[in-house]
Amino acid sequence: MEITPPGCDGNVMASRIWKRERTMLVDKFDRSFPYLRLSITAICNFSCTYCLPNGYQKTGQEHFLRQDEISRLLDAFIDLGVWKIRLTGGEPTIRKDFTEIARMIGKRDEIKTFAFTTNGYRLKENAKVWRDAGLNNVNISIDSLNAKKFHEITGHNRMKEIREGIEEAIKVGFENVKINVVLLKGVNDGELDQYLDYVKGTPVSVRYIELMQTGDNLTYFNKYHRSADHIKDQLLKRGWVENIRTPGAGPAVNFTHSDYSGSIGIIAPYSKDFCTGCNRLRITSSGDLRLCLFGNVGIPLRHLLQNDDQKETLKKVISKQLDYKASSHFLAAGDTGIMTNLSSTGG
Ligand code: SAM
Ligand code: SF4
Repeated sequence: MEITPPGCDGNVMASRIWKRERTMLVDKFDRSFPYLRLSITAICNFSCTYCLPNGYQKTGQEHFLRQDEISRLLDAFIDLGVWKIRLTGGEPTIRKDFTEIARMIGKRDEIKTFAFTTNGYRLKENAKVWRDAGLNNVNISIDSLNAKKFHEITGHNRMKEIREGIEEAIKVGFENVKINVVLLKGVNDGELDQYLDYVKGTPVSVRYIELMQTGDNLTYFNKYHRSADHIKDQLLKRGWVENIRTPGAGPAVNFTHSDYSGSIGIIAPYSKDFCTGCNRLRITSSGDLRLCLFGNVGIPLRHLLQNDDQKETLKKVISKQLDYKASSHFLAAGDTGIMTNLSSTGG
């Protein structure tokens, strides 16, 4: 049974007790981490201009976490109170054993929210199988609703089939269907009307993500980054309402409107206080723990995933690392940490 978090009634103590009961992963800034983002591959078939403009380039290190290693990782994190998992990448669905991985995780009752982020290229044919496997939330990246622009951004002329995949995901009962849109100056920052038309009759949440600088994309970032403030201003002017944030909610700010089936969210990593809402830890496709997307260290865990007897040591290592989680990233100062692009770490 899902425990309902205390409401935003200013009862800070109740909220803290709730957090601590739900997860043992709490850092020194009193942030709790019930949410794990697990990258299962760094490979991707798309070549999004801001992520992998030349497509995925083989490194010879394509030895991604195996199913038995993922299972042990899961055991440890579940013991530590994690109840939300997102599979990401690279393109997670490119793995031949994606459905098997989904079934293995989907069997675990402790996981209440089981999500994945995808470019959607296999969604139309597989939405039902994946929903049946236990996945209940899906984020699909669509950076433009204009087919030509979509093609230019991703390198693939597949918007139509991806949109059909979204329809299928809704039809087969995914509980939350979100559309990720990376905001790009002069490219898609004038498309709010098109996205609003889309959410008018479609029960999806469109989430604008401000473009983030990575180790690889400085020139691109300088050219295309734009703050999402103008999106917020336009939404408020048109009668959209900013939702009250619940404890444990992630860093997105969400807006709703009674005339629309869907909603709009804004993820603004450069905004003040963005990191105070941090509720997630990350595992890279080669099994490193990352405390922050833009951190300077990856803590190797793979050697502790080789047999079941290592679970207690693994749990201790993970818990101890939380003492080193910084209060925020240093993106505003241009410090992107060791992350080269999001496909390697898992966005
Ligand atoms: N391949 C899948 C996809 O694109 O949905 C999952 C991995 S992708 C790295 C996860 C998310 O990160 C996508 O929504 C993508 O648009 C976003 N992303 C990638 N690079 C980014 C950047 N530099 N700034 C902001 N978002 C980015
Ligand atoms: Fe691939 Fe996702 Fe990166 Fe696009 S954003 S290149 S789909 S990993």
